[in-house]
Amino acid sequence: MKFTTKVVHSQLKGTEEIRSKTTPIYQTSAFSFTSLEELEGFYEGKSPYLYSRTGNPNTDELGKMVAELEGAPAGVATSSGLSAILVGILAVVQAGDHIVAAEDLYGGTFHMLKEELKSFGISTSFVDFTSEEEIEAALTPDTKLLYSETVTNPFMRVEDISRMVALAEKHNLKSMIDNTFATPFLRQPYLEGVDLVAHSATKYIGGHSDITAGVVVGKEELVQKAREKVVNIGSNLSPFEAWLTCRGAKTLALRVGTQAQNAGTLADELRSNEQVKRVYYPTDLSDKGNGAIVTIELDASCDISTFFKSLGWIKIIPSLAGVETTVSYPLGTSHRALPKEAQEKLGINTHVVRISLGIEDGGDIVSQFNEAIAASVKK
Ligand SMILES: *Cc1c(COP(=O)(O)O)cnc(C)c1O
Repeated sequence: MKFTTKVVHSQLKGTEEIRSKTTPIYQTSAFSFTSLEELEGFYEGKSPYLYSRTGNPNTDELGKMVAELEGAPAGVATSSGLSAILVGILAVVQAGDHIVAAEDLYGGTFHMLKEELKSFGISTSFVDFTSEEEIEAALTPDTKLLYSETVTNPFMRVEDISRMVALAEKHNLKSMIDNTFATPFLRQPYLEGVDLVAHSATKYIGGHSDITAGVVVGKEELVQKAREKVVNIGSNLSPFEAWLTCRGAKTLALRVGTQAQNAGTLADELRSNEQVKRVYYPTDLSDKGNGAIVTIELDASCDISTFFKSLGWIKIIPSLAGVETTVSYPLGTSHRALPKEAQEKLGINTHVVRISLGIEDGGDIVSQFNEAIAASVKK
């Protein structure tokens, strides 16, 4: 062999004898075959991999892992939370169909439904999901799907999953829920009867703020349809990001357990702070904790800009779910694009702050917030 050939072909062949403790990263765009018979075998289902857009061991590992954690038979990993939501929805609806969705959805999902899917002939009604009457009033003969989130953002409304499932069954609809904020550690909506469960794995599943990824899980038949959408649209996840997400996910219970405990401690503490007008933190999400996001509304006596400047080691980050405690400003970021009336209806104003709890010492977190609030009181 000439050098130019050797340099390409001299890498280790196969991993059978190596017995690596962790899954290797199959950072490859395609898989090799030694004969036309073997190639034919792929189409007969004898070998699982052909081309990474159609399937890869690392992305499969992530899909299967989240499915297992959710108690669902199948799952598929995708390039982002939004693409997981998209392929899940497209597994159920097509042009001419109608969706009834909660009005307080994640902004990205809201825009996808309202603009992108609408342009493909899929319409959505956004209604108050706390009202069974409003949900039923929005149904049309074309309605195929009820869509909501286990816990909504930023006010941490916990969805009544059993009511949603009962309504879907009553009207012969599918149900789908975004379980990003709750995580399968705290809630498993599939086991409560929801057909499809989506995640932005960018958040708690990955947990370390270093990837963008998504997963959708459910019954094999629906997930198979979602998988076809991933292949046809090209919203597959890269092997390395899938690998990082799986690595991060191993500590999901430890992280979310501690984060939820810190959130509970901070919520209790801030409820007794005179400068805090409201604390939004649920009490009925699960018996293992109530999530790791606390949203507060500071009193008008506080200068909001001084508050954000006085947070010391707590950074302003327009995302959530990392191991570090961070804060975000819904009015300036996640809910910026909403019309003023919608912001007012939801309660998003100049003094609302969303806190994503990390795994630091709970006492340190409480002191840092107390300090920043005290510093922000207008003289
Ligand atoms: C972040 C987020 C998404 C979107 O996920 P990406 O990974 O950013 O595409 C969807 N739903 C919820 C609840 C989120 O927090």
